[in-house]
Amino acid sequence: MNQSILCPICEKRKPEAEFKPFCSKRCADVDLSRWLSDGYVISGSESEDADDTPSGDPVQRGDD
Ligand SMILES: [Zn+2]
Repeated sequence: MNQSILCPICEKRKPEAEFKPFCSKRCADVDLSRWLSDGYVISGSESEDADDTPSGDPVQRGDD
């Protein structure tokens, strides 16, 4: 099989080395948005001990 690898987002263009495995920063952002909408939250801290909060309220106030 000699299947050419395409960008997993648009599936039309070949990945650019700079944005691998995506073809562009735009597609990389799309992938990132999917992660975020999937519940994956990137925060500055590693504390994830607030799992007992019901999902649906993404607002988390840190102790200031
Ligand atoms: Zn793409």
